[in-house]
Amino acid sequence: MKLITYRSGGRVSYGAVVDGGVVDLAKRLPQQSLKALLAAGAVGEAKRAIAGQAPDVKLADIVYLPPVPDPDKIICIGLNYDDHRKETGREKTAYPTLFTRFADTQVGHGQAMVKPKSSDKLDYEGELAVIIGKRGRHVPKERALDHVAGYSCYHDGSVRDWQFHTSQFVPGKNFPATGGFGPWMVTADEIPDPTKLTLVTRLNGQEVQRAGTDLMIFPIPELIAYITTFTELAPGDVIPTGTPAGVGSKRTPPLFMKPGDIAEVDISNVGVLKNAIIGE
Ligand code: ZN
Repeated sequence: MKLITYRSGGRVSYGAVVDGGVVDLAKRLPQQSLKALLAAGAVGEAKRAIAGQAPDVKLADIVYLPPVPDPDKIICIGLNYDDHRKETGREKTAYPTLFTRFADTQVGHGQAMVKPKSSDKLDYEGELAVIIGKRGRHVPKERALDHVAGYSCYHDGSVRDWQFHTSQFVPGKNFPATGGFGPWMVTADEIPDPTKLTLVTRLNGQEVQRAGTDLMIFPIPELIAYITTFTELAPGDVIPTGTPAGVGSKRTPPLFMKPGDIAEVDISNVGVLKNAIIGE
């Protein structure tokens, strides 16, 4: 099942994608958001609610919002593909590199990502996003995938000069409208093995990144085990799992995104997240 958050006729709702449209779940269930649905453990109820239902609205007529517009936490993983680690010239580390992104930096599929006026170094990073479905602390890696509600595409748009002012990435990862997220969440039952996906990033139709998710240095269960050792993961929390090689800042000459560009993150069995770049 593909679950989306969207706006239609001035109203924000969430639903399931069926036959080129959306069956509105807020009209059929007590939970009024995807995060609330996950927190209630009600994905099964959603599946039953859409059985035999025709779409309420066409996909062509909605504004896509981030699948979870208001996660309590977005914990991003840096340097999680070895070819990307090598291109950045960094040493291997015993622990994953983590940084945070604020929820209000996110935009949905089809919404514009914004190049800030304070930098010309907005770089692309295609990533697989994990969306948490079940609250947990001290989750062992053997049970970690039980805590995953589903998967989505993430574009961790990175303002490189601001990322590297110091050793801390947070400023360069938190400019407004730099986190593309969507178009939907594919429920975990449709992706039994998240190491078997292919991630491709395109800029203006040209492929700039390609990798199998089997190449992650710290696989998803290890990330969840590590993170839940120091903090609780809650329903709706998002973990963008890192980007592979091919980022624009490490090319010769460098390739940064500029107004008018179109960026796509395409993950097999998940979907294609497409965003235009505009200037601030
Ligand atoms: Zn990233």
